[in-house]
Amino acid sequence: MRNLSLTDTIAAIATPVGESGIGIVRISGKDALSIADKIFVSQDGKKPSTFKTYTTHYGWIINSCSSAPVLQCSSKNEIIDEVILTVMRAPKSYTKEDIVEINCHGGIVALRRVLDLVLENGCRLAEAGEFTKRAFLNGRIDLVQAEAVLDVIRAKTDYALKVGTEQLKGGLSSRINNLRNILLDILSAIEANIDFPEEEISPVNLKKIYQQLENTNRQLLDILAGSKQGRILREGINVVICGKPNVGKSSLLNALLKEERSIVTSIAGTTRDTVEEIIDIKGIPIRIVDTAGILEPRDLIEKKALQRSKKFIGLADLVLLLFDGSRTLSRDDEILINKLKQKTTVAIINKIDLKQKIARGNIVKRFKYVIDISAKKIKNINLLEEAIANLVYNGKISKLESVLVSNLRHIEAFKATQKLIAGALNSLDNKLSYEFVTQDIKDALGHLDDILGKRFFEDLLDKIFSEFCIGK
Ligand code: GDP
Repeated sequence: MRNLSLTDTIAAIATPVGESGIGIVRISGKDALSIADKIFVSQDGKKPSTFKTYTTHYGWIINSCSSAPVLQCSSKNEIIDEVILTVMRAPKSYTKEDIVEINCHGGIVALRRVLDLVLENGCRLAEAGEFTKRAFLNGRIDLVQAEAVLDVIRAKTDYALKVGTEQLKGGLSSRINNLRNILLDILSAIEANIDFPEEEISPVNLKKIYQQLENTNRQLLDILAGSKQGRILREGINVVICGKPNVGKSSLLNALLKEERSIVTSIAGTTRDTVEEIIDIKGIPIRIVDTAGILEPRDLIEKKALQRSKKFIGLADLVLLLFDGSRTLSRDDEILINKLKQKTTVAIINKIDLKQKIARGNIVKRFKYVIDISAKKIKNINLLEEAIANLVYNGKISKLESVLVSNLRHIEAFKATQKLIAGALNSLDNKLSYEFVTQDIKDALGHLDDILGKRFFEDLLDKIFSEFCIGK
């Protein structure tokens, strides 16, 4: 997006391309209204440049055939579409510029013709995310809020939406601004003293500075503790289904998918031996992998499959370990039980529709969470889903409270900030020169500024906004 002028008037189709009730062409910039004047004929004959802000008007998009623009529908003018036009004047608009939105009929041709006409009359086609980028560069929102726009658009669950809207509202930004203000206070308190090296910082002031830094450190640790959950809500938890062959792993995956068919997404790159899907269980995106169930590989392919299973198990937040209730526990079951000792595991006794031979007590003794199901007959699948959701919500997989941060860029910057503040505390503990303390605080402030976009690199903006769709 580099080198594109911010003073251009830009336009794009802001709705998905396809057949729909309406589609929106959005124009932003200083010429938005004058361009609308050239192509829109309102029912009452008034020009868009005379419309009040936040008003909508019924009319037609006209391709004027005569050289002079004609403000009426005549035989000389081709009607492109019947539309509703909305005017939002600067600075109270999404981009802080004049915006015109044209609600057309949602057909591909109608939208394309209106867009072409707008472009012919002096607009440039907007880049992906350029409307939001302008909102950021024009100072209406900070970078956290700009990124939250994307999170809101992409939210797959209610909770992901909640975190996104909270950030959009400025919840995270105000928390960061509070931290910045405290750090700036500390900085000026120290610097006021080190300007006069003969004067030492009084013990009272030093104690206060120390407490403020400790408090900041605690807040940063809190934010980071909540960030794991934030990432879960944004990206899902990794769940792996394990068990020896034929215990019913694929059947369980299918049973879970059947319940959630409407929101199932298949992931590209699925291999023959491991199947990965995303399902929504009570608002939590779950990335679920069905492993091959190979314990002793017989050939190279199986060896590779086993390696892949091990990798997935290593990465898993939660393991569902399946047993066949109609059989006694075997050596292979025992191997798996021992292998999964370190993981948060739900033991699932499958095939409860058959006569039970498994030593259930033996399993209950070893696992905190045990659920009996029939994957084939779809029995108790709801209990399993509840158990998974409870593990997440009760903080067994991670904490739900204080979800503020879900974006990896923010998390990395918070980690760096916290490290620096811990360093500053350490310097105070060891009575090092105050310059060490102030340098760490300055660097920490820099990281907080990065999150908000107070200082930024064009490359970073390009990366962030290129993920947006055109028209946003
Ligand atoms: P996997 O090898 O662990 O993936 O096992 P599958 O899902 O392929 O199931 C193995 C066999 O067990 C199939 O014939 C399934 O129909 C059967 N099966 C799976 N779940 C149940 C169940 O709950 N009850 C019964 N009776 N059979 C089941």
